[in-house]
Amino acid sequence: MNRYGRLLASGFVAVLAGLGLSSSQALAQNYPTRNITMIVPFAAGGPTDVIARIVTGHMAQTLGQTIIIENVVGAGGTTATTRAAKAANDGYTLITGHMGTHAASVPLYPKLAYHPEKDFEPVGLLAGTPILILARKDLPPKDLKEFIAYVKANETKVNAAHAGIGSVSNVSCELLNSVLGVKPIGVPFNGTGPAMNALVAGQVDYMCDQIVNAVPQINGGTIKAYAVATPERNPSLPNVPTTAEAGLPAFQAQAWNAIFAPKGTPPDVIAKLNAAIVKALEDETVRKRLIELGSVIPAPADRTPAALGTLVKSEIAKWTPVVKPVN
Ligand code: ASP
Repeated sequence: MNRYGRLLASGFVAVLAGLGLSSSQALAQNYPTRNITMIVPFAAGGPTDVIARIVTGHMAQTLGQTIIIENVVGAGGTTATTRAAKAANDGYTLITGHMGTHAASVPLYPKLAYHPEKDFEPVGLLAGTPILILARKDLPPKDLKEFIAYVKANETKVNAAHAGIGSVSNVSCELLNSVLGVKPIGVPFNGTGPAMNALVAGQVDYMCDQIVNAVPQINGGTIKAYAVATPERNPSLPNVPTTAEAGLPAFQAQAWNAIFAPKGTPPDVIAKLNAAIVKALEDETVRKRLIELGSVIPAPADRTPAALGTLVKSEIAKWTPVVKPVN
């Protein structure tokens, strides 16, 4: 900066001081003045991507700026999350994380380059996503009981698609496998969008996926669903039994998706973003699309940044005794 620039800048700071504002408060007041980047840690077309696009599409209208989705894939979502943790904390780079990137990855990866609580500000929960046990449409078992017997009998031959170590599909199928006492072959993809394509094409045998990705395929008859791992059936799939109904009550799994900002993002910016999420979740069109895809809209008390912070803490505590470190 030249002398003139320095003078201008110091004048700016002096004006702000006169108004009782710090420069970060002033930036937050006008926020956002340009496009916002939303990092999605998995491939396009998967549940995280779909939920992020539905909600940020509405948030962009509220905020008056475009929200650009950037799919950054790899390492079960942790590559993108590391990048988001190191981004400028000015509200212009955010991430849509989930139960994997912001909870299960902590005990899974002892050398994780970020910590969900220390390196991020919680912004707001977007949607809960029940987990389904899915299979290619020509896998022989016709119900969950037959599937369990089949996987046990063919443990060394069957394979399970997932979105990388630490992804929701990986962690929830590991949980299923430990309930069943089997160790099938895992086949990693960059997201369950591409994993679903492989399931539809019959290239992999089964998958534990968040509901959002699966409803259109199940209803279209391109894959089969053995059960939903929640206490109640899902209204978008009334014919799919719960795991309890189908004979496997021990397998319960529901994931969640939420927006986070790098640590130190100004509180006023977080408040604006959270208000935009809340507004999106109250919009009839947004609600309809989320519900049609089987997701669960958070109750009002669960939509605050503080509630998301509490969720992250409890989810890390929940997964720590369940998952084993990978390195
Ligand atoms: N939710 C991820 C996706 O959007 C995949 C996963 O976590 O299993 O592809």
